[in-house]
Amino acid sequence: MTFRDLNLKKPLWNALDDLGYHTPTTIQANGFKVMMSGADTIGIAQTGTGKTLAYLLPCLCMWEFSKGPHPQILIIVPTRELVAQVVREVEKLTTYMNVVVGGVYGGANMNTQAAMVLNGLDVLVGTPGRIFDLASSGSLKLKHIKKVVIDEVDETLSLGFRPQLLNVFEFLPAKRQHMVFSATLSEEVALFLEDYLISPVRVEAARAGSPIDKIHQIGYRAPNFLSKVSLLRHLLKGFEGDSKILVFVSSRALADTLFEEIKEELSDSIGVIHSNKAQNFRFEAVQRFQTGATRVLIATDLIARGIDVTDVTHVINFDIPENPENYIHRIGRTGRADKNGMAITFISEKDDAALEAIQVLMQQPLVFEKTPKQVAYTTELLEFEKPVVAIPGKVLKLPSRENKGASFHEKKAKNKKVNVRYNHKKAMQEKYGKPKKKR
Ligand code: AMP
Repeated sequence: MTFRDLNLKKPLWNALDDLGYHTPTTIQANGFKVMMSGADTIGIAQTGTGKTLAYLLPCLCMWEFSKGPHPQILIIVPTRELVAQVVREVEKLTTYMNVVVGGVYGGANMNTQAAMVLNGLDVLVGTPGRIFDLASSGSLKLKHIKKVVIDEVDETLSLGFRPQLLNVFEFLPAKRQHMVFSATLSEEVALFLEDYLISPVRVEAARAGSPIDKIHQIGYRAPNFLSKVSLLRHLLKGFEGDSKILVFVSSRALADTLFEEIKEELSDSIGVIHSNKAQNFRFEAVQRFQTGATRVLIATDLIARGIDVTDVTHVINFDIPENPENYIHRIGRTGRADKNGMAITFISEKDDAALEAIQVLMQQPLVFEKTPKQVAYTTELLEFEKPVVAIPGKVLKLPSRENKGASFHEKKAKNKKVNVRYNHKKAMQEKYGKPKKKR
């Protein structure tokens, strides 16, 4: 099957030719007819299976030219980086179409984005909060939206985003087609979707041959931060010069600590990204990693989802993800577009429960490698790793009468005094026999 077998428009075929894409992926082939029929669609696709094009192709195929300035297609994604990525994909696909696309996200000047929206758009890509802000300020009119895509729906519909998303729904016309996509769909999100989607059709990318199979997954035991750093140093030295390595850590603070720890030896070829960094810094960090200017990128789960960086050869889970779904999203950054990939996870003893959850979800055990001989583990713990010991309060115990030693003596009379609160009402009552009010 080729894209010519899908009933696309000529400008889309031409754009696909330019991109060198000839064969639709499973999710693209299976989802096309469903979405073109106008049905609400739930697409379950492993990451890297071409799900962005899977929804963009039918959306752009059904798009009709209109002179009005208001968007017809709304694509909601959870992070700013994904906004930028999806905007780029739309631009590539619409080289031969008169489609205007724009991206909006928080953390950037709202007036600039409002001006862009007021200028007129056909496709709007954005994060839920900023879409809502623009809609409620009146700059963005959503009354002409015909297609609503929610990408990475389990994240976009996670509790943090949900109120904002529901607010956005309030601005949308009742008649609209939903297309929701994700690699994972929790039961809770599936239940929630039942309230909003009308008889949705589920489309799944075949599991066989999906990128997960192209990712070689291994684990290493490592007891603490400094030991993990030694192991990471050793592994990085062993990788080929052109490898691209994404290192996931569990928090923003840890991302910075790890960066400081290993930046010297990697000089310019290492970057770091997390949500506390300024937006320009974030875009630049992804961009430098994308172009190969940096070989190693330390990241939090901020970029675990959806981000499509070409040729990531290794994903290293320096810390195991708390949520097992994120393991799938993280490792999916490698092994994309028919390439093989490697996912390496560092596991300490306290991670055993999280590891178990991942193995259950993946339906396969993680194979452990022996610690390389050259790596020296340490028992030294950094401050944040030290167990919080409750210092037992000093128990003041009076010696029992029998044990009264030489040091025990009666309190002096003046020290025996107990502080008593002065009670004016009581004092007056005692003096005059009846309650007397203070003047
Ligand atoms: P996605 O799962 O949407 O992040 O896509 C993963 C990567 O595959 C992206 O770089 C796409 O541009 C690329 N891609 C999508 N569809 C195709 C296709 N039919 N043929 C080749 N590459 C594709």
